Amino acid sequence: MSANADFVRRDLAVLWHPCTQMKDHEWLPLIPIRRGQGVWLEDFEGKRYLDAISSWWVNLFGHANPRINAALAHQADELEHVILAGFSHKAVVELSERLVKLAPPGLTRCFYADNGSSAVEVALKMSFHYWRNLGRLRKTRFINLSNSYHGETLGALAVGDEPLYKKTYQPLLMDVITVPSPDCFERDSGESWEAHTRKMFAHMQQALAEYHEEVCAVILEPLVQCAGHFRMYHPVYLTLLREACDRYGVHLIADEIAVGFGRTGTLFACEQAGITPDFLLLSKGLTGGYLPLSVVLTHDKIYQAFYDDYTKLTAFLHSHSYTGNALGCRAALATLDIFRDDDVIARNRLLATHMQRATAALAEHPHVTEVRQHGMILAMELVQDKASRTPYPWQERRGLKVYQHALTRGVLLRPMGDVIYFMPPYVITPEEIRLLAEVAAEGIELATR
Ligand code: PMP
Repeated sequence: MSANADFVRRDLAVLWHPCTQMKDHEWLPLIPIRRGQGVWLEDFEGKRYLDAISSWWVNLFGHANPRINAALAHQADELEHVILAGFSHKAVVELSERLVKLAPPGLTRCFYADNGSSAVEVALKMSFHYWRNLGRLRKTRFINLSNSYHGETLGALAVGDEPLYKKTYQPLLMDVITVPSPDCFERDSGESWEAHTRKMFAHMQQALAEYHEEVCAVILEPLVQCAGHFRMYHPVYLTLLREACDRYGVHLIADEIAVGFGRTGTLFACEQAGITPDFLLLSKGLTGGYLPLSVVLTHDKIYQAFYDDYTKLTAFLHSHSYTGNALGCRAALATLDIFRDDDVIARNRLLATHMQRATAALAEHPHVTEVRQHGMILAMELVQDKASRTPYPWQERRGLKVYQHALTRGVLLRPMGDVIYFMPPYVITPEEIRLLAEVAAEGIELATR
């Protein structure tokens, strides 16, 4: 038995993999990875795969990055973890100081959790609890966008809007007010992203006007709904939303778990609208893709609403065992050092241009209805009929064919349904981007025959 096959046999005997119909692995090979280096992953037989999706959008500066490795080794020798209630440590304080400096102005408090969904839960609870502490007991609901995604725990799932993940669990979920997404895929022909986005804001305006007395917060993914097939919109939506939330006394929760840390061309997507949300949620790239860690940044007004004598029982008594884990915080600090020292955002601008050029011809493909991009996120949407934008029946799993082809060519592309996307680590080279585009083009050709 080959090294890969032997390992896969052991895996399939004991593991239940995430987001997977396990029966698929009767015919779809599982890929065992022995090591990673930069943008490359290597299996047990030495075959290499270019990680075009940053291992679920987390990796920023490559696998086994020597700078992050060194920082982690040092931290492990000093302190791996300590309880964060009643105790503190160097890495978490340094990280919080730096995040407060880098985040949109006014976000002065960091509350840690250990994954993206947990950060969403924290923000929902904090917003709700803030209004309770102020005696606003009618405020119990949240507004979200159609096609949104905020994670898989029950609260996060409830404020998402992807039926594939949500429908089964609906009886367990809180009721939310869902407003149509400003998704620019839906714009009229000839209409600009900005005009469409502005037009779609009318729905949000209407929902806020109608429900603001009972709404705690609006939650959304700034600029790109990544898990929602990478649908995108113009930053003006965030500007309008900030104004409206202020006017109606509703919090704004910006879930930058996927789009934060340079993905959309700025360090944080909110910067493009010049706004400060009431809650900024970060995870994924926070540790450069090394360790599970998340943080909710908020401002002093929220913090002060919880700050009182213990017996008033206004404190935020939420916790996770690994809150503010020292190794995670150290990986995050090393990641921020790379941003500081390497002029990453400027280099990303060049890489984004390479991605755009390398895929420009694909926009003409008879089954590619759109190639869209926000910075280092580029997506191509396949359709059966381009004129009417009729999708392929989902049961045909066309995107999976692109995935399978890419693997034979040593590229890890993992289409979202029929949307093929690139979200690579920032250490990718222009030549590697050209390879991605070439392989994607071949895969699209094969999958749409
Ligand atoms: N919010 C957004 C926007 C995400 O993309 C994700 C993960 N894909 C999450 C929340 C959930 O994060 P996690 O998977 O770490 O729970």
